[in-house]
Amino acid sequence: MSARIIDGKALAAVVYEKVGREAVDFRAEHGRSPALAVIKIGNDPASEIYVRNKRRKSREVGITSILHDLPAEIDESAVLDIIAQLNVDPTIDGILVQLPLPPQIRTENVLSAIAPDKDVDGFHPQNQGKLLAGCPNFIPCTPAGILEIIRSTNIAMPGRKAVVVGRSNIVGKPTALLLLQEHATVTICHSRTQDLAAECRAADILVVAIGRRAGIRGDWIKPGALVVDVGINRDEQGLGGDVDFDQARERAGFITPVPGGVGPMTIAMLMSNTMQAARRKEE
Ligand code: NDP
Repeated sequence: MSARIIDGKALAAVVYEKVGREAVDFRAEHGRSPALAVIKIGNDPASEIYVRNKRRKSREVGITSILHDLPAEIDESAVLDIIAQLNVDPTIDGILVQLPLPPQIRTENVLSAIAPDKDVDGFHPQNQGKLLAGCPNFIPCTPAGILEIIRSTNIAMPGRKAVVVGRSNIVGKPTALLLLQEHATVTICHSRTQDLAAECRAADILVVAIGRRAGIRGDWIKPGALVVDVGINRDEQGLGGDVDFDQARERAGFITPVPGGVGPMTIAMLMSNTMQAARRKEE
């Protein structure tokens, strides 16, 4: 058996189409476009690419993006001042701070400073808490994209065994909470998990976000399982995921490729969250 390969770009195109139409209506009604402020600090090469892609997509769907391109050596208080201004700026609907931040800036302080109603990345503690409580405000973009990918397969989630490998605050934990909300039976694995292969082999739905190229072997996949590979690893072999794709596709029922799977959906969900923030603000 060979898995159906999930086309993240095609799924993202559907989201862009919808957001694009909503942005046109929004402009007609309110006399301005939805606006996203993007804060980039320093010149991390991956961040440069992500910010460029996010801004390009914003333009394409009719969302204004305003870049604050700050030097790597800026101090934390200056960043907090900028966020405070953006929080009260009526022309700004969403605020995104591109991670990772330079060492002198505490990520926690920066993310907590963003007004929760403009926190389109969903990383503010209040928004994380709402997700935990089962009444999300903004769902973090990558987990939101993962959920849309799973939904696109029409696989019923209630009662299914879902395994999330990785427990970061931006991917693993929120993804596990979303799957729980969908009534899956969820296991979260991490670097101290004793028998990762056995956990993966039990998964009907396997989401992997560990940041290790091909860290999940093909023979760990349950035949027919849905595999979502979140990993983005750049090395001399080029771009690759956290799952051994060539082996895994022979066993899985559905699998996301890298690139072209979760990545495109992450940016699409950012556009969707920004549109949602703009609508709510005007309401
Ligand atoms: P983090 O480094 O923050 O977290 C990695 C997690 O994986 C940790 O919980 C760690 O465990 C666990 N882990 C690491 N190695 C192993 C292992 N060998 N076995 C089991 N668990 C392991 O990463 P992120 O969550 O931020 O990102 C994960 C991957 O997803 C990266 O490749 C990143 O580039 C990609 N990514 C992709 C996005 C997209 O849009 N497609 C968006 C965000 C991230 P422990 O907690 O015990 O250390």
